[in-house]
Amino acid sequence: MSVTERLLAALGPDIVSAGGDVPERNRADWSGLPAVTPLALVRPRSTADVSAALRICNETATPVVTQGGLSGLCGGAHPIAQGVALSLERMNRVISVDVAQATLTAEAGCVLQVAQQAAADQGMMLAVDLGARGTCTLGGVISTNAGGNQVLRYGMTRDHVLGVEAVLADGTILPALNRLLKNNVGLDLKQMFIGTEGTMGVVTQAVFRLQPRPSHGATAFVGVADSAAMLALLAQARKAMGPALISFEVMWPSFYDIMREGIGAPHPLSGQHGVYVILEAGGFDPSVRERLETTLADAMEAGIVEDAVIAGNLREERALWAVRESVSEYPRIIGKLTPFDIGIPLDRMAEAVATLEAAIKARWPDAQALSYGHMGDSNLHLVVNVPSAGADQPTKDIKAMVYGLTRDYAGTVSAEHGIGTIKRDVIGYSRSAEELATMRAVKAALDPRGILNPGKAFA
Ligand SMILES: Cc1cc2nc3c(=O)[nH]c(=O)nc-3n(C[C@H](O)[C@H](O)[C@H](O)COP(=O)(O)OP(=O)(O)OC[C@H]3O[C@@H](n4cnc5c(N)ncnc54)[C@H](O)[C@@H]3O)c2cc1C
Repeated sequence: MSVTERLLAALGPDIVSAGGDVPERNRADWSGLPAVTPLALVRPRSTADVSAALRICNETATPVVTQGGLSGLCGGAHPIAQGVALSLERMNRVISVDVAQATLTAEAGCVLQVAQQAAADQGMMLAVDLGARGTCTLGGVISTNAGGNQVLRYGMTRDHVLGVEAVLADGTILPALNRLLKNNVGLDLKQMFIGTEGTMGVVTQAVFRLQPRPSHGATAFVGVADSAAMLALLAQARKAMGPALISFEVMWPSFYDIMREGIGAPHPLSGQHGVYVILEAGGFDPSVRERLETTLADAMEAGIVEDAVIAGNLREERALWAVRESVSEYPRIIGKLTPFDIGIPLDRMAEAVATLEAAIKARWPDAQALSYGHMGDSNLHLVVNVPSAGADQPTKDIKAMVYGLTRDYAGTVSAEHGIGTIKRDVIGYSRSAEELATMRAVKAALDPRGILNPGKAFA
């Protein structure tokens, strides 16, 4: 029997589809890689189904690519033609919200926004948040250790996960659904599944830590002269606002002007500036807004801030975020592009942005190099398009230049999106040979036949 026949016999046609029956959406993720039809698509309804499927795939040494919301940008969930795609889309329930313990337990295929809403309904907050919130799943954010807009205040996904249930390559169910904030008994096994992009096991359930929902907030849109002033503002805002500073998002005009025009959004300030910053503040005291105003007034007096506006209501707040959150419009506004998700130490960030944009322009004079990012987290998103190259972008050369400079600046080739397939050749720029060998030794111990996401991340 073929692997598809065995899967069908064990799980039935409701769960297993093959060939032309595999829906288009399961043939590609957001990486832009060409669509691939896997041998079979498995859509389990329970952890037992996942276990049965993995047992068969392990016995037949069949590659398995786990899929969540398919919003990953690096090809991690992109299917393999000779492999099985395992989608968690039907395991999407919020199981419980425990207000006293401040935890949320859900199945891994639960969409992030659904989990956020379930927490909000109980007056709590799931503080993992990113632009793809309506599409990405809890399993996906765990497996990529996703970041987003609130990392400065609340940390990466890793900081929110208390426990997981996962299925290992041979079908073993690992029940590690810890709900305690403190649990010092032995190895913290959940860490093996966080940020490892589906290479170590399939996450089927997770326990997230919840936060109290800030009762007061304020959002400001600020113009500063240059990158040095932007970094001075970050340092000052951190000192003045402490944990009330939730987001510090930055857009250089290279990004802001094109995307603002592309979505037809109004400019909230009266003039043009060298760098634009969104500051979001939150807390439990009505003085939060006043503190943000005072911080910006002090920064203006010190010559750091040129102009600023603070949203007066929720509608204005969303309008201040509109350009920053317009990145899903890239295909329409920019066309084919080469995106980056690099990290650069903040003391070298200003120089790095200027050098990167100048080097790209010098090599491809008509290039658009758009810079923006989660600057409070040292995370720069750079997007490059060479209009004269049309569909045949010089992607390889652009990557060689950007990743080479990232290495020179002691940065990381992936701050939050992961490695997938598209950054495998530069993984050694950010991790030593010894670190990579240790990761592969742990992987070999758990998945000796190498069936889980082969050729992805460090696997
Ligand atoms: C518009 C947009 C904005 C974005 N903004 C951000 C951002 O601000 N910050 C950020 O970090 N990312 C961002 N991303 C990237 C993406 O949303 C995240 O990587 C997200 O975590 C992926 O979740 P997913 O469910 O879509 O995972 P998928 O794309 O389906 O999978 C991603 C990886 O996780 C693995 N995986 C998925 N589910 C499981 C599971 N249950 N068990 C084991 N492995 C699994 C897959 O095999 C793959 O390697 C953005 C993407 C888009 C399209």
